[in-house]
Amino acid sequence: MIKHEYFPLSSILYYRIGGTARYLLEAQSRDDIQEAVDFVRANGIERVLVVGLGSNLLFPDDPYDGAVLRITAGKTPQIVEAEEGLVESFAGETLDEVINFGFSHGYAGLEWAGGLPGTVGAAVRGNVGAFGGEVKDRLCSAEVLEMTESGPVTRFLDNRELGFSYRNSVVKGSRKMVVVSAGFELERASQAQLEIAKESYQSNIEYREKNHPLEYPTCGSVFKNITGKDEVERVLAVWPDAREMVQGRWHGKLSMGYAINRFGLRGHQIGGAQISTKHSNFIVNLGDARFSDVHGLIQKVKEEFTRAFGFAPEAEVEIVECKG
Ligand SMILES: Cc1cc2nc3c(=O)[nH]c(=O)nc-3n(C[C@H](O)[C@H](O)[C@H](O)COP(=O)(O)OP(=O)(O)OC[C@H]3O[C@@H](n4cnc5c(N)ncnc54)[C@H](O)[C@@H]3O)c2cc1C
Repeated sequence: MIKHEYFPLSSILYYRIGGTARYLLEAQSRDDIQEAVDFVRANGIERVLVVGLGSNLLFPDDPYDGAVLRITAGKTPQIVEAEEGLVESFAGETLDEVINFGFSHGYAGLEWAGGLPGTVGAAVRGNVGAFGGEVKDRLCSAEVLEMTESGPVTRFLDNRELGFSYRNSVVKGSRKMVVVSAGFELERASQAQLEIAKESYQSNIEYREKNHPLEYPTCGSVFKNITGKDEVERVLAVWPDAREMVQGRWHGKLSMGYAINRFGLRGHQIGGAQISTKHSNFIVNLGDARFSDVHGLIQKVKEEFTRAFGFAPEAEVEIVECKG
């Protein structure tokens, strides 16, 4: 485990925004995680935030008076074929490494995640998904370290116990669990099936490159699409002409990119942050954005929504609280 003090988080988070952490504890193995947990306990550190690649976090510019435990991949890959059809990975490996490990061992099943950034630990916690796939469909079990009153306890949770739902799991709900490793159930594929899976993986990456503003620091989609039936109906009562797209193109959901665009907010800028001109559900850091710039744009969208429909959309990006 590598320990840094007074570490500038903007240098490691995707958004390139964030204040200084009292401690940054870098863990690249199971032993490192244990060592970091011991350090936190020995020093009575009360606030701990686990991060992976930081691709879904908006961190304030204020100092963080606690420890950021960063779990990422080490130099030696920690992904193995534990048994036929079961690929086990350390939490700090990227989902992309798992996909490619699968391909090189004749397995398919995660190609929907082509181009989706992030570690395995965060993917399990947030049940990430794209192009109709979700982690829950391939996740067999996860090893978690649960922080209890009497100390950390290792638990192995199966798919059912992980309690997955849309972008959610018991790990996210508990806030006291650290994912240490995960097992994915993949499909043995013939050479022809493997080629199709690789093509699908590649075309998902290309779709993102074409449609998302990847040339700037972002955190992916800022808001979750509107999925609740009542909420969708409230929107359609004001925008009846959107019904066809909701029913056909978006499978009953309201696309937040569409809504933000329709409010005329595409390209709207506060300080160094801008609602992307390429995809309105992305807020980009044009170079020198501060937390308050991105947060201001998020609030602006929420206000427009509330004024028009009487409710605010839910943020998909996680906004970290530094104080309190
Ligand atoms: C360009 C772009 C496109 C994206 N597209 C998608 C998409 O299509 N679908 C989608 O679902 N997401 C998408 N995202 C969001 C992001 O990829 C996911 O949320 C991803 O899981 C974040 O992984 P991370 O390692 O960066 O986690 P971080 O951002 O570092 O952390 C995210 C959360 O996970 C927690 N966490 C991290 N590691 C662990 C662990 N080991 N144990 C417990 N908790 C942990 C953190 O505390 C935090 O709450 C996109 C992001 C970007 C930048």
